[in-house]
Amino acid sequence: MTTANLTERGRLTALRAAWLFDGAGSSMVRDPVVVIDGATIIAVDSGVSAPEGAEIIDLPGATLLPGLVDTHVHLAFDASTDPVGHLSGREDGEILTAMAHASQAALRGGVTTVRDLGDRDYLSLGLRGRSDLPTIVAAGPPITTPGGHCHYLGGVAEPTVRGVRAAVREHVERGVDVIKIMASGGNLTPGSRQDLAQFPPDVLRAAVDEAHRHGLKVTAHAHAVGAIADAVAAGADGLEHVSFWTEDGVDAPDPLIRLIADQRTVVGATIGRVPVPGLTPPPEVAARLPRIMLNTRRLYEAGALIVAGTDAGIAPTKPHDVVRYAPAMLRELGFGQAEALRAITSVAAGVCGLGHRKGRIAPGFDADILAVDGDPIADPDALHRIRAVYARGTAVPDAAAARFAE
Ligand SMILES: [Zn+2]
Repeated sequence: MTTANLTERGRLTALRAAWLFDGAGSSMVRDPVVVIDGATIIAVDSGVSAPEGAEIIDLPGATLLPGLVDTHVHLAFDASTDPVGHLSGREDGEILTAMAHASQAALRGGVTTVRDLGDRDYLSLGLRGRSDLPTIVAAGPPITTPGGHCHYLGGVAEPTVRGVRAAVREHVERGVDVIKIMASGGNLTPGSRQDLAQFPPDVLRAAVDEAHRHGLKVTAHAHAVGAIADAVAAGADGLEHVSFWTEDGVDAPDPLIRLIADQRTVVGATIGRVPVPGLTPPPEVAARLPRIMLNTRRLYEAGALIVAGTDAGIAPTKPHDVVRYAPAMLRELGFGQAEALRAITSVAAGVCGLGHRKGRIAPGFDADILAVDGDPIADPDALHRIRAVYARGTAVPDAAAARFAE
């Protein structure tokens, strides 16, 4: 199989298992051998012997798949019933420690890449590149209006063309990977209006333009129908939530659904939820949820590009490894079995700008690998039966402590 030269490369690792899903295909491969050199996969074969001299790790009966990718998390939120309140009283150092723990919880649950779409004061940027954490793509504090959604995270801009251009440039100078802008209000911020746009359309367009001028993509938190329409018109690369929220319900006009699909604006559906006994969504959410799901299904049927951006951290139903719960929900929306897994691996990696090295088990890709018991294509619950997690070639301690029984 591989012609790897041991004298040049140092010791290789060969993972052997019963099955492999590569993150991009539709079916599983039997008897895989995945050869890892350091942090990188260098060969993927089936039914062959491991290269001579490689350290062999056998995972009998297990299925290998790419480490999972969550396109929308908040490492600074603690997945309690009051994540905002808990954040407000804490010093930066304390928050950073908690964020590291949150991202390690994600890693143990098989999530090897997270896109943090809202930290406080750029704290997530300092966690990037740490070998004991997942790969982190960071937006810093979301750009919002004075008193607007998540203003307490530090990303307030004057809602003018000049104001948002300056805010985007500050984010660029701080070194963010992506721009997150709050196009509408949101549930976590009393006083903000989820059914209304926060920025005038020309201001939103200026923010997107400024980000694109600096080579950054923009994803817009958008509940309100008007905010969704404005963000799409502004050329935002992605939308988060996309609930089509109105004052008294939900309204998703057909032309807007078609436009989102045709423009390939990424839909970050807030999909994935751990059942927690006794916890139900707030009544205004619960009343709208069936129609929100129905409209996400309409987006899917229109051919929209949909990923699971879980919003991990915002509630007890949203722990930092919650994306494992997304495929079951994606299938309720009409996703095919393997397609639901691609949405949290290769497709999500592409949305994070990492499609060239994350989300697939293939030569040249980072050795981010999840091993589970069972067939995760046919049975999404198999994702909870974790045997091992590898992040950039290194085994994650305590990864097997899966939460399946909950
Ligand atoms: Zn969020």
